[in-house]
Amino acid sequence: MAAGLPAQATIKVMSPEEIAARAGGEVQHLRLPDGATLFAERALRLRQLAASHAMRDYLIFMADLAQAQHLVLPTVPTLPLPTGAQIAGARALGRPPLPAADWPRDPAWHAALRSIVTELLPRAPEGAQPALRALLKAEPDWLERQADCLLTGVTLGLDMAAAPLVAAALQCYWVALVQQTQARHGAEGMPAFLRIEDETVCPCCGSRPTASVTREVGGVAGQRYLHCSLCATEWHMVRIQCPHCLSGRSLAYQQLQAGEGHELPGTGASIGAVQAETCDDCGHYLKIFHTDRDPFVEPAADDLASVTLDLLVSDTGMRRHGVNLMLLFGEPDDGSPPPLPDDGRP
Ligand SMILES: [Zn+2]
Ligand SMILES: [Zn+2]
Repeated sequence: MAAGLPAQATIKVMSPEEIAARAGGEVQHLRLPDGATLFAERALRLRQLAASHAMRDYLIFMADLAQAQHLVLPTVPTLPLPTGAQIAGARALGRPPLPAADWPRDPAWHAALRSIVTELLPRAPEGAQPALRALLKAEPDWLERQADCLLTGVTLGLDMAAAPLVAAALQCYWVALVQQTQARHGAEGMPAFLRIEDETVCPCCGSRPTASVTREVGGVAGQRYLHCSLCATEWHMVRIQCPHCLSGRSLAYQQLQAGEGHELPGTGASIGAVQAETCDDCGHYLKIFHTDRDPFVEPAADDLASVTLDLLVSDTGMRRHGVNLMLLFGEPDDGSPPPLPDDGRP
């Protein structure tokens, strides 16, 4: 497949170390979200990436949005949670206990949305103000329809201007759900969340990942985790396995390179920290961010800042497996190239 690649792409063969990582012992399977730091770190990373980025204003708006999520998350009240029997039932079926598409949502997320919008309004650009103000007055039924569209991947009927805000509130809601469920049922000595049957989706909420991230966990470097696009739970998956079809036969790694004829717009991340893992077996790719090459990578933030890599890889016919609720249409299943924000390329 190298023949069809643009000049900026490179293919990296797996190193022996990376192959060895696959044969490692038992690793921690789940990393549940830490609400105290999750959105603050995302906001910080977005600001860092924005500094030298062609999409500076967009990334700063996203940083402000993440900061609003950070402030609003602790205000989410105690939510209706699954019972022990419901958790056991989901486990028996190998399913996530808090499925994004089916879990009955409490209207608390509407209040979270209004709080996020109120936080954001004073800092939002002029162009975004009407959509924000409209959200403050949105009817509950309309909000629920927007949430249904977002959480089931249906774009028909979705208000694109409102979608990132609705997504931000739903992320707060699901992070709170996961934390509260773990706090209640973990206290009874039974972990609420375990491995589920379908390794390609989040074990807590069943959503697709935004990207992979490699971390040092339990003293073992280079462990690959998939980062949930909704609740930010990370679940372990061995390296050298396609996160879409689970095949390990035809994987390759592409990354942006500085120089080589013309300068690509800055992605802000260190060279080599951001790659696309492509699979010739199913034709999908997922980005992978390496904390050993850039300790500050944050999957949702770095995904937004590396849309140039999406353009490059989708030019080769690969489809995006990752979901970023802040950047819709990044994951078309019809093979068409994703419409993305202006990345500053001529
Ligand atoms: Zn999740
Ligand atoms: Zn595949």
